[in-house]
Amino acid sequence: MSPETRPDFLINPEGLRLDGRRPDELRKIELECGVLKTADGSASIRQGKTYILAAVYGPRELHPRHLSLSDRAYLRCVYRMATFSVPDRKRAAPSRREREISMVMGNALEPALFLEEFPKAVVDVFIQVIQADGGTRCASITAASLALADAGIPMRSLVPAVAVGKADGKLVLDLGDEEDKYGQGDIPIAIIPRTEELTLLQQDGSFTREEFLEALQMGITGCKYIHELQKDALKRAYAKRAPETGEEEEEAGAEYEDDLETDLGESEYDEEEDE
Ligand code: UDP
Repeated sequence: MSPETRPDFLINPEGLRLDGRRPDELRKIELECGVLKTADGSASIRQGKTYILAAVYGPRELHPRHLSLSDRAYLRCVYRMATFSVPDRKRAAPSRREREISMVMGNALEPALFLEEFPKAVVDVFIQVIQADGGTRCASITAASLALADAGIPMRSLVPAVAVGKADGKLVLDLGDEEDKYGQGDIPIAIIPRTEELTLLQQDGSFTREEFLEALQMGITGCKYIHELQKDALKRAYAKRAPETGEEEEEAGAEYEDDLETDLGESEYDEEEDE
């Protein structure tokens, strides 16, 4: 593999980014839920070349029991990157960064959940980054919240997340890998869209007060757009699962007719006589 070199510029003279996006433009985002058969809820996200799977199990009994909370369920988040998800093979052992992201994910999601309905239980959220091309921290939160909804965990809201950064001195929405590596900073945020409550706010690099406020606004606008995509993904999944109204009625009717036949004595006895 050839070593990566810093590009000459992150924003070209026309004001466009390396992948041709405008500064306030998100990458193409594809969300899907119900992608894993074994999980109670699941979701996938493709954001540019970043590709992540989220699986949710629970609420279920918590082991080891001493971790259980008497007034609410324990939200256990585990963020992991596949060894092949980055150009240099990632070591299999969990890194400090993976542990930190697992923790901030939990903090970002918890305010949106009614965990108090399941004291002593656990809700497990597993994130697997299949391909990392920047923005995995936020994309993981977006996908995890969709997987939690898919699992039917009672929640106040979905939680969309995105980062705003600075590249060549200009604020940019939804950093790609090179912008993340060679830019001057990033601010990942997650929100509860209806109230604009921030459930994740971190900062790397330095921003002036004006830049910070503008970045926040840019991030909130991005999150609200991602929220619409999350809702669409949920609607698609439910539409796929729900039996068509006609079918459901017909099936119920058929069952009723079967019962009637049995009640009227047209079943076994008559059949036996026929033999
Ligand atoms: N990365 C890497 N190797 C690692 C961890 C991260 O190459 O072990 C790269 C990868 O491209 C990833 C980016 O660094 O997408 C980190 O950006 P991200 O937004 O995913 O995480 P954060 O910057 O929020 O920690």
